[in-house]
Amino acid sequence: MTHFTYEFNNESYTGKVSFPTGLFINGEFVDGVKGTTLEVFNPTTGKVLTTVTEATAGDVDCAVKAAQAAFDTTWGLNAPGALRAELMNKLASLIEKYNDELCALEALDNGKTFWWAKMLDVAFAISTFKYYAGWADKIGGQTIETDEKKLAYTRHEPIGVVGQITPWNFPLLMFAWKVAPALATGNTVVVKPSEFTPLTAIRMCSIIQEAGFPPGVVNVVTGYGNTAGQAIADHMDIQKVAFTGSLAVGRKIMAAAAATNLKNVTLELGGKSPNIIFNDADLEKVQCERGRLRQVDPFDKETGYGYCRFLGHGWPPLAETWNQGQSCCAGSRVYVQEGIYDKFLAMFTERTKNINVGDPFIPGVNQGPQVSQQQYDRIMAYIESGKNDGATLHLGGNRHGTEGYFIEPTIFTDTREDMKIVKEEIFGPVGVVIKFKDEAEVIRLANDSTYGLAAAVFTQDINRAIETAHKLQAGTAWINCVNQLHTNVPFGGYKQSGIGRELGEYALHNYTNVKAVHINLGHRM
Ligand code: NAD
Repeated sequence: MTHFTYEFNNESYTGKVSFPTGLFINGEFVDGVKGTTLEVFNPTTGKVLTTVTEATAGDVDCAVKAAQAAFDTTWGLNAPGALRAELMNKLASLIEKYNDELCALEALDNGKTFWWAKMLDVAFAISTFKYYAGWADKIGGQTIETDEKKLAYTRHEPIGVVGQITPWNFPLLMFAWKVAPALATGNTVVVKPSEFTPLTAIRMCSIIQEAGFPPGVVNVVTGYGNTAGQAIADHMDIQKVAFTGSLAVGRKIMAAAAATNLKNVTLELGGKSPNIIFNDADLEKVQCERGRLRQVDPFDKETGYGYCRFLGHGWPPLAETWNQGQSCCAGSRVYVQEGIYDKFLAMFTERTKNINVGDPFIPGVNQGPQVSQQQYDRIMAYIESGKNDGATLHLGGNRHGTEGYFIEPTIFTDTREDMKIVKEEIFGPVGVVIKFKDEAEVIRLANDSTYGLAAAVFTQDINRAIETAHKLQAGTAWINCVNQLHTNVPFGGYKQSGIGRELGEYALHNYTNVKAVHINLGHRM
């Protein structure tokens, strides 16, 4: 059985972690049927950090059987909502207990700063489990009037065994967004975390054991996408797949569902989110909302913003570069009205120059390494394409440092609509700043995208703000703020950014079947 032991000794966290890294099936850590492992890299150094057990199709099958057995006996319609809530609340408390350890693992495995893991990823994961624990005993249908002598009502029943495939950019948080609503509604799950960042999902398995969940309710299989992930998408006994990741893989999941048992599919895919800044925007506020470049103390006296706000899931250090730009709703297209374009660009450039890139455990660092060599290469190729296509490389564009996967915060200007850096999701610390004339033009430009995940509008004119927000083809529209997410508020995409919504009450619909019951109350012919 593979095992991970690591001693942290840095300015953010001191402590030793040690836990098994086998597959988590039926409440136990087990070896994979093929006995193979996969390597996990430390993005700060570019060196191998550890190896974990590799799951293949046979392991997915074992996990599905365990999940089905749990669904039929200890979970599903057999576990009252109050019990599900109790266990989920316990899990949330345990995540809180291991908060710093989970932040350290996330920083080590993904490269995000320890501080941001604490402010956002882990805090949000805790609130997600708490929020859905609150729903667990409140899942109800409707009674429906008809013109006949009968009682008709609906039940919102769990779907069964759910496959959940998560990406590497918010490993623990995406685990929480997927698992919490599924468990609250009574489903059992087989989760496949990204092969690039499996450590927090594996650590969660011990925490799930400690919380006392019945075996088989949560199963975690660490493996590659085209083997373990594809086996989930293809499995005939998985009734639903929830996927977060790239558009290309989203298409494969839908195709697999169509070719097998027509399993229900929800997809959270990519984005190329426009941030629109009108002439009358309060630029200080824009900068504050779109980008703070130093660490914010809990309760920052200067701005009045602080820790309390992060628990409501506050704002990023910079809309393009937060989480190293590896955010599906990154404001990577910045449209600025011509009257304030120069002033905005000067301020924006200054602030971007001050981004502190470095070791994610060093307090004061705002940007860590990209997650992997593949991602690093992909982003550098986009930067090259921007230069080759004739855009102006206004700032950055180079490797930062000599080891690991660090990239300088990068700004392009003088772009054209047809350039790849304007059209495609870069998923790196790269923004394009584009001048526009008027409302009609910017709405056309903003909507000229195959994606439709999120958009932000900055203006002091409330009518213009609301009108623009309503005209933008995006699942989320922010007004005078950006990257604001909340457990209670749905999140998901229009167009090719996805199908279905996560978070809020809406996510419960992803995990329930609606059964209509008709009771004959009179004589029917
Ligand atoms: P990815 O699509 O490469 O991988 C996502 C997951 O799918 C991984 O676990 C991977 O192993 C698995 N996978 C790969 N091939 C598979 C296959 N054939 N069958 C089944 N599973 C397979 O994406 P990524 O690079 O990990 O994540 C980045 C992408 O995720 C970006 O496009 C980003 O915008 C998107 N994302 C979206 C949201 C959202 O809420 N909309 C949130 C986070 C990330």
